[in-house]
Amino acid sequence: MPAIEGWFTIDAEPALLGNRCTTCRTVFFPKASFFCRNPACSGEQFEETRLSRRGRIWSYTDAQYQPPPPYIARGPEHTPFALAAVELADEQMVVLGQVAEGYGVDDLAVGQQVELVVEDLYSDDDHDYVVYKWKPLTGSREEAISS
Ligand SMILES: [Zn+2]
Repeated sequence: MPAIEGWFTIDAEPALLGNRCTTCRTVFFPKASFFCRNPACSGEQFEETRLSRRGRIWSYTDAQYQPPPPYIARGPEHTPFALAAVELADEQMVVLGQVAEGYGVDDLAVGQQVELVVEDLYSDDDHDYVVYKWKPLTGSREEAISS
Protein backbone atom coordinates (compact mmCIF):
# COMPACT_ATOMS: atom_id res chain seq x y z
CA MET A 1 0.00 0.00 0.00
CA PRO A 2 1.16 3.58 -0.61
CA ALA A 3 3.11 5.09 2.30
CA ILE A 4 1.14 8.26 1.68
CA GLU A 5 -2.43 8.13 0.52
CA GLY A 6 -3.41 9.78 -2.74
CA TRP A 7 0.01 10.96 -3.96
CA PHE A 8 0.63 8.28 -6.57
CA THR A 9 -0.87 5.20 -8.19
CA ILE A 10 0.53 1.69 -7.80
CA ASP A 11 -0.62 0.19 -11.08
CA ALA A 12 1.59 -1.26 -13.83
CA GLU A 13 2.55 2.24 -14.96
CA PRO A 14 2.63 4.18 -11.72
CA ALA A 15 2.06 7.93 -11.84
CA LEU A 16 2.01 10.83 -9.44
CA LEU A 17 -1.46 12.18 -8.74
CA GLY A 18 -1.92 15.91 -8.82
CA ASN A 19 -4.97 18.00 -9.44
CA ARG A 20 -5.93 20.71 -11.83
CA CYS A 21 -7.89 23.83 -11.04
CA THR A 22 -11.02 23.80 -13.22
CA THR A 23 -10.91 27.60 -13.44
CA CYS A 24 -7.31 28.42 -14.43
CA ARG A 25 -6.11 24.89 -15.42
CA THR A 26 -3.04 25.13 -13.19
CA VAL A 27 -1.78 21.71 -12.03
CA PHE A 28 -0.76 21.16 -8.42
CA PHE A 29 1.33 18.50 -6.71
CA PRO A 30 0.78 17.76 -3.91
CA LYS A 31 -2.88 18.39 -4.63
CA ALA A 32 -4.41 21.74 -3.84
CA SER A 33 -7.47 21.68 -1.64
CA PHE A 34 -10.17 24.22 -0.75
CA PHE A 35 -8.72 27.01 -2.88
CA CYS A 36 -6.44 27.49 -5.86
CA ARG A 37 -2.81 28.37 -5.07
CA ASN A 38 -2.63 30.61 -8.11
CA PRO A 39 -2.86 34.09 -6.52
CA ALA A 40 -4.64 35.42 -9.62
CA CYS A 41 -7.39 32.79 -9.43
CA SER A 42 -10.32 32.29 -7.07
CA GLY A 43 -11.05 28.71 -8.19
CA GLU A 44 -12.25 26.19 -5.62
CA GLN A 45 -12.92 23.17 -7.84
CA PHE A 46 -10.25 20.62 -8.79
CA GLU A 47 -10.05 17.50 -10.89
CA GLU A 48 -7.55 14.72 -10.22
CA THR A 49 -4.91 14.27 -12.90
CA ARG A 50 -2.05 11.82 -13.50
CA LEU A 51 1.24 13.63 -13.98
CA SER A 52 4.00 12.82 -16.48
CA ARG A 53 5.81 9.60 -15.65
CA ARG A 54 9.03 10.96 -17.11
CA GLY A 55 11.11 14.02 -16.56
CA ARG A 56 14.66 15.36 -16.46
CA ILE A 57 16.89 15.78 -13.45
CA TRP A 58 17.01 19.42 -12.47
CA SER A 59 19.20 18.92 -9.42
CA TYR A 60 20.26 16.06 -7.17
CA THR A 61 21.98 15.46 -3.89
CA ASP A 62 23.38 12.74 -1.71
CA ALA A 63 21.02 12.60 1.27
CA GLN A 64 23.11 12.32 4.42
CA TYR A 65 20.38 13.82 6.54
CA GLN A 66 16.93 12.77 7.63
CA PRO A 67 14.88 12.51 4.44
CA PRO A 68 11.70 14.58 4.11
CA PRO A 69 8.28 12.90 4.43
CA PRO A 70 7.10 10.48 3.15
CA TYR A 71 10.58 8.98 3.15
CA ILE A 72 11.85 7.68 6.43
CA ALA A 73 15.28 6.86 7.75
CA ARG A 74 15.70 3.11 8.09
CA GLY A 75 17.62 3.07 11.33
CA PRO A 76 21.30 2.42 12.03
CA GLU A 77 21.76 0.27 8.95
CA HIS A 78 20.50 3.14 6.83
CA THR A 79 22.71 3.75 3.82
CA PRO A 80 22.93 7.13 2.13
CA PHE A 81 20.72 7.47 -0.88
CA ALA A 82 20.31 10.00 -3.63
CA LEU A 83 17.49 12.49 -3.89
CA ALA A 84 16.60 14.01 -7.25
CA ALA A 85 14.54 17.08 -8.09
CA VAL A 86 12.95 16.22 -11.41
CA GLU A 87 11.29 18.57 -13.87
CA LEU A 88 8.23 16.77 -15.22
CA ALA A 89 8.05 16.48 -19.00
CA ASP A 90 4.62 18.03 -19.50
CA GLU A 91 3.87 20.06 -16.40
CA GLN A 92 7.41 21.49 -16.03
CA MET A 93 7.00 21.45 -12.29
CA VAL A 94 9.80 20.11 -10.13
CA VAL A 95 9.07 17.10 -7.92
CA LEU A 96 11.54 15.86 -5.33
CA GLY A 97 11.94 12.14 -4.85
CA GLN A 98 14.32 9.42 -3.76
CA VAL A 99 16.33 7.78 -6.54
CA ALA A 100 15.57 4.11 -7.22
CA GLU A 101 17.36 1.34 -5.35
CA GLY A 102 20.82 0.62 -6.70
CA TYR A 103 21.54 4.14 -7.99
CA GLY A 104 23.74 6.73 -6.31
CA VAL A 105 24.82 10.27 -7.13
CA ASP A 106 27.63 8.89 -9.32
CA ASP A 107 24.97 7.49 -11.64
CA LEU A 108 23.21 10.85 -12.05
CA ALA A 109 23.63 13.99 -14.14
CA VAL A 110 21.63 17.18 -14.57
CA GLY A 111 19.41 16.84 -17.64
CA GLN A 112 19.28 13.06 -17.41
CA GLN A 113 15.94 11.39 -18.12
CA VAL A 114 14.22 9.48 -15.36
CA GLU A 115 11.02 7.51 -15.05
CA LEU A 116 8.71 7.08 -12.09
CA VAL A 117 8.77 3.69 -10.38
CA VAL A 118 7.26 2.39 -7.15
CA GLU A 119 9.49 0.52 -4.69
CA ASP A 120 9.27 -0.84 -1.17
CA LEU A 121 9.80 1.74 1.54
CA TYR A 122 9.30 -0.24 4.74
CA SER A 123 7.11 -2.89 6.29
CA ASP A 124 5.29 -3.25 9.56
CA ASP A 125 3.37 -6.22 10.94
CA ASP A 126 0.37 -5.58 8.74
CA HIS A 127 1.51 -4.01 5.50
CA ASP A 128 4.32 -3.43 3.07
CA TYR A 129 4.53 0.25 2.28
CA VAL A 130 5.68 1.52 -1.09
CA VAL A 131 6.72 4.91 -2.35
CA TYR A 132 7.48 6.55 -5.68
CA LYS A 133 11.10 6.91 -6.76
CA TRP A 134 12.94 8.22 -9.81
CA LYS A 135 14.72 5.61 -11.91
CA PRO A 136 17.36 6.78 -14.41
CA LEU A 137 16.70 5.63 -17.98
CA THR A 138 19.47 3.54 -19.51
CA GLY A 139 21.99 5.58 -21.44
CA SER A 140 20.42 8.91 -20.53
CA ARG A 141 23.34 10.00 -18.32
CA GLU A 142 25.86 9.78 -21.17
CA GLU A 143 23.41 11.64 -23.37
CA ALA A 144 22.91 14.37 -20.76
CA ILE A 145 26.64 14.81 -20.18
CA SER A 146 27.54 15.00 -23.86
CA SER A 147 24.81 17.49 -24.77
ZN1 LIG B 1 -7.03 28.31 -10.38
